[in-house]
Amino acid sequence: MSKQTGVIETEVQARERLAMVLQDLPDRFVMCRDMRHAWVVEKDFHVSLGHARAIQEITRVLVCMRCTTQRVEAYVPSLNWGLEKVYMHYVYPIGYMIHGVPWGSRPSYLVQAEQYRRTMLKVTGLQTQK
Ligand SMILES: [Zn+2]
Repeated sequence: MSKQTGVIETEVQARERLAMVLQDLPDRFVMCRDMRHAWVVEKDFHVSLGHARAIQEITRVLVCMRCTTQRVEAYVPSLNWGLEKVYMHYVYPIGYMIHGVPWGSRPSYLVQAEQYRRTMLKVTGLQTQK
């Protein structure tokens, strides 16, 4: 069971709620949840903290071509002239996040079922792209 806004929700209820939420998401969000993000470099590696003689942090920003999620990666120079990733965070577009779903959980079977449902609606002409 999971607890959400003071109401105890069973796993089945949580799954049903998530399936309903997925139905309302734009196609691009469901696509990224299904196949992961389509990254391109928005701002390439650059010194974001320090200077050329004392680099403290190097950052790179990626953006998803489909849903516009940003991934900010930060590195420090390592002793062997490589880079060591020190953190990474994501900036999601409004509406991408689904509240009540634990971070990192990927209910892929529900996402793929929603993709299938949408595909069937499209091929039958019952629904146009969101
Ligand atoms: Zn994306």
